[in-house]
Amino acid sequence: MRAVVFRRTNEFAVEAIPIPEAGHGDVLVRVRASMICATDQKILAGRFPAVRFPHVPGHEFSGEIVASDHPSWPTGTRVGVEVHVGCGTCERCREGMYTLCQNYGKRETGHAHIGFTVPGGLAEYVAVSVGALHALPGEVSFDEGAWTDNLGIALSALERGRLAGGERVIVIGPGAIGLCAAQLARALGAGRVVLVGRGDRLGRARDYADETFTPDRSASLKTTADLVVEFAGTAEAARDAITFARRGGRVVLGGATGTGVELSGIDLSTIVRGNLDVLGSLANPKGVSGRALSLLAQGKVRVLDLITHRFPLAAFDEAWRTFAERREGAIRVMLTP
Ligand SMILES: [Zn+2]
Ligand SMILES: [Zn+2]
Repeated sequence: MRAVVFRRTNEFAVEAIPIPEAGHGDVLVRVRASMICATDQKILAGRFPAVRFPHVPGHEFSGEIVASDHPSWPTGTRVGVEVHVGCGTCERCREGMYTLCQNYGKRETGHAHIGFTVPGGLAEYVAVSVGALHALPGEVSFDEGAWTDNLGIALSALERGRLAGGERVIVIGPGAIGLCAAQLARALGAGRVVLVGRGDRLGRARDYADETFTPDRSASLKTTADLVVEFAGTAEAARDAITFARRGGRVVLGGATGTGVELSGIDLSTIVRGNLDVLGSLANPKGVSGRALSLLAQGKVRVLDLITHRFPLAAFDEAWRTFAERREGAIRVMLTP
């Protein structure tokens, strides 16, 4: 089969490699839609020590089951995939927080992080644990289903921030997940949604928010939000997030998933006297992606407009450069294996 292979740090190619064997607990998925994410850039740059090269990346994909011995997952089932598979037995997994599995990276325990510690979906076929599968509702296309993981991440952050109906929400970071979060905030009944960010991406964001701001114009947002959700990943964005929250409000930081971003320049009294909840949010635990797909099926969130470019898998090189250089405001680049 054809697959993208990260050979070593900063070197990749599209190669012919064997179709993976579905191990115990896995099904074989024929990939139909697969996207590139900024995390893939961090992986290629060597910033995820758990990833071993050569590596097949890809963690935002959907497809069709073509081999399975699981009665509940017959061949022909259309599936979206979330990427964290816990061991199932550690304390965190038993709480449903398999995204925090204490056996991370230990394949022998059943743990897998698809596209990170095991091969991913930037390939024609991928072996996927049944624990990571979500059947796609009939209304959801493969292109939409490739957003299963992203939508779960955005929904999880909003739920972590205890969004209540009618509240004022600020989302920082108009990338793929931020734009999903803004739409989901509306779907969950937010009263007003403001997006903060920069670049071509913010132009697109106008459809998803009541108002948009660039960071340099955002001083008026200070202490205005019941809930701030951050998906930009910079220290500046985290600082802004904390200052935008009203006293007694909530701040959910979701962007800085890699190491090396340090927060300074915050007067701690802003948090203490402000009685703020400042929360980190990692990924999509507790099967939240399945509920996100339900909102997608109802048309309460739109993702097709966020797919700005399309390429066949063989043209990965061009697709990668389009995404990495954010050509024409690229948000998500879709590859069809
Ligand atoms: Zn991603
Ligand atoms: Zn575990």
